[in-house]
Amino acid sequence: MAATSLNAPNAPLLQKTHQTHVFLKPISTIPCQTSARRFSISCSATTQDRLSVQSQSQDRVFNFAAGPATLPENVLLKAQSELYNWHGSGMSVMEMSHRGKDFRSIIEKAEADLRSLLNIPENYAVLFLQGGATTQFAAVPLNLCAPGDSVDYLVTGSWGDKAFKEAKKYCNPKVIWSGKSENYVRVPSFDGLELNPNAKYLHICANETIYGVEFKDYPVPRNPNGVLVADMSSNFCSKPVDVTKFGLIYAGAQKNVGPSGVCIVIVRKDLLGNAQEITPVMLDYKIHADNNSLYNTPPCYGIYMCGLVFEDLLKQGGLDEVEKKNQKKAGILYNAIDESKGFYRCPVEKSVRSLMNVPFTLEKSELEAEFLKEAEKEKMVQLKGHRSVGGMRASIYNAMPLAGVEKLVAFMKDFQAKHA
Ligand code: PMP
Repeated sequence: MAATSLNAPNAPLLQKTHQTHVFLKPISTIPCQTSARRFSISCSATTQDRLSVQSQSQDRVFNFAAGPATLPENVLLKAQSELYNWHGSGMSVMEMSHRGKDFRSIIEKAEADLRSLLNIPENYAVLFLQGGATTQFAAVPLNLCAPGDSVDYLVTGSWGDKAFKEAKKYCNPKVIWSGKSENYVRVPSFDGLELNPNAKYLHICANETIYGVEFKDYPVPRNPNGVLVADMSSNFCSKPVDVTKFGLIYAGAQKNVGPSGVCIVIVRKDLLGNAQEITPVMLDYKIHADNNSLYNTPPCYGIYMCGLVFEDLLKQGGLDEVEKKNQKKAGILYNAIDESKGFYRCPVEKSVRSLMNVPFTLEKSELEAEFLKEAEKEKMVQLKGHRSVGGMRASIYNAMPLAGVEKLVAFMKDFQAKHA
């Protein structure tokens, strides 16, 4: 693709070429990129210093952060190409009225695509909310029970613990099992759980982001009228899930499905409408459900980004395919850890190791700083474990390419060879 004539000193910020948008900045600020993976640009002498094609790969790192986390490259590029003028509307999604037809089409498509991905039945509402998953720690008890009601919390990590502590303000929660004394390395057998026969709900955190403990199947509440509630923030849309096993699922977007600022709630409709009197309007699920998540101004751009991610996941073949990729990536990394003869160690019980967050320690902990520094030099960043556990943590969400995990594993082997 040849560069078009873009020579005027104050050229417009954006010009459309055949396939993509080319961004221009003043000569002094932008070096020319003459090649990139997706676009091949031949710069003439006069345009050379002023042309920057916003493609990447070469200049992006492998970001192993736990969230906000890496997003699919093609989604970022699509958002970039639509940023300035969405579908000929003459404005960016950031500038649109949330009640206009354009944004309505965006949120409706996002919901429809999410429904297809997770096979969400009609008797469940899908809500796009704000306040992160942390807000749901309060919204769940406020909506699902009266002040004195009993509820059960199965705690497999610090997010479940935080959810329990918040619920104490609004109902009568009980921790029926906690892995804290063992430093959160497992999920208990469901047979021995002392579930309360009157509990309005049983709460789990489906994937504990910090400790890397993931439920592979789910407990059933003992109360026939009780429901299972799951915080799926860090494994949402990473694999198929039978939504009908849950009364409510919630997930902050910023790990697998979008930027921070959006929290998705999937809730069975018959559970709506019984919020405690003190419930703030913004935490009342029924109000959001009745208004299709447009009761007030929603996080429009974040919802748009989630929609692009859902579209991409469907294009990949849906969550069965996505799960296969995630299993492959996680398998390679856990194998490398397990085969390192103790140089690296993952403390989590094998049967419940997370496909998304892989924590590991170095036998020689004095090497951790060097490991991180060397990894960063190789453009692999955010590998430091959570401050509460130390060690390393590689978050390998849907958008982490296989190449990123392969590169990390090659680096780990090399590092070991140098320091064993
Ligand atoms: N639950 C889990 C499992 C998480 O990983 C996080 C964030 N790391 C939260 C809840 C809190 O999410 P937020 O910061 O969006 O409130």
